[in-house]
Amino acid sequence: MKTLLQAAAALASGATTSQALTAHCLTRARADETSAFLTLDEAGALAAARASDERRARGGALGPLDGVPLSLKDNILTEGVVTTAGSRMLEGFVPPYDATVTARLKAAGAVLLGKTNLDEFGMGSSTEGSAFQKTRNPLDPSRTPGGSSGGSAASVAARLCFGSLGTDTGGSVRQPAAFTGLVGLKPTWGRVSRAGVVAYASSLDQVGPLAHTVEDAAALLSAIEGYDAADATSAQHPRTDLSSLKAGVEGLRVGLPKEYLVEGMDGEVAAGVRAAAETLKARGAVVREVSLPHTRFALAAYYVIAPCEASSNLGRYDGVRYGHRAQGARTLSALYEQSRAEGFGPEVKRRIMLGTFALSAGYADAYYRKAQQVRGLIRRDFDEAFAQVDVLLSATSPVLPWRLGEKLSDPLAMYLMDVLTLSCNLAGLPGLSLPCGRAVGGLPVGAQLLGRPFDEATVLRAAYALEQALGLDFAPVGGA
Ligand code: GLN
Repeated sequence: MKTLLQAAAALASGATTSQALTAHCLTRARADETSAFLTLDEAGALAAARASDERRARGGALGPLDGVPLSLKDNILTEGVVTTAGSRMLEGFVPPYDATVTARLKAAGAVLLGKTNLDEFGMGSSTEGSAFQKTRNPLDPSRTPGGSSGGSAASVAARLCFGSLGTDTGGSVRQPAAFTGLVGLKPTWGRVSRAGVVAYASSLDQVGPLAHTVEDAAALLSAIEGYDAADATSAQHPRTDLSSLKAGVEGLRVGLPKEYLVEGMDGEVAAGVRAAAETLKARGAVVREVSLPHTRFALAAYYVIAPCEASSNLGRYDGVRYGHRAQGARTLSALYEQSRAEGFGPEVKRRIMLGTFALSAGYADAYYRKAQQVRGLIRRDFDEAFAQVDVLLSATSPVLPWRLGEKLSDPLAMYLMDVLTLSCNLAGLPGLSLPCGRAVGGLPVGAQLLGRPFDEATVLRAAYALEQALGLDFAPVGGA
């Protein structure tokens, strides 16, 4: 059994119980060699499984995910269960409340197994930036699972659970999905509540599902989406209409942004995306080239805006209110300085310095304001493209999963890997990655589909058609 819907069906038919499924997942998770989890909440998971089985036995009301074991990225708050955001700053921090998405999964009946590894505060593309451990790619343990939601991706791809939630600020759900052969969805900004999610860059952050199939990802989206009064930026918008998920792509207009065929792109990645375009065409879609002329400025704009917002968001970690507190400081400013010097890792410090610089008097106009102007142009490019087509198709990452350690010494080389995913966040659009091919050596190639704001339905419909036509399946090393 692999998918979330299969697990839900097995529970519904009585072929298994939540306690049996949960025990199975926990056994696998304890033996996990990818280091996907930072914390396993065995007692909490087994108690939730028992409660689900009792609800079912009683004939009580069941949620859509009732009894299904899932995992959560460790920057999503879980009441009573340690949440670190991958940082020494929050080592041992036990949240007093659940994030809205956590509460919604619980309300849907899900069993939460534990918390998955990430780049510190979500800053990175390989999960090597965690303060605690490195996560391996279940499909090839010498390689990265991507990041920053690499632990979530590994937990699903290694079949330790049936789905996971990650967060995506510049690609952190889609790129790990691409690297591990999964489906990853970043919803429209505002579609899913950010309340109780450790903030990285608030105007870009969104929670999204990682799962084996498009239907699984859609089921997770349904469980977490919708207005939340606890998030001031939460959108009042109708829920995603999944009634046409399987309607096919006849007549669907698909755009291939010519600027997304970037220099240095891996040949096998380019071939996978071409094959995906041909497949959609064969199923009746109308495929044409489009232009997003300001794409070449997106990376620079993102790596100004994200650090600016991060430097502001991370101001709260002062050693006083919560998080790491330095010992032996004699003055208040020494307490701030030492706590932050000890609590934050090198990439986080780099981002804080970049952001503080770009926001400082005399530079804010040249950097922050300029980046915001570029952001407006990027959004306009998308508006113009979506006047001609219904979805955009590209690669998710320009390269295949790289070897652990390969890009660690060069932060800029790591930033460049986000070139195809971050415009989606700058414009607030929905974006999805799904496997579209298998490269030599068995590594997955990820295709990205982007849609109009709040048009997850069309993105999911195109993805479902592609998934069904391609029929790809990726198994972890060492078997399922
Ligand atoms: N790699 C990008 C960054 O470091 C995106 C990370 C993310 O989406 N959380 O900012």
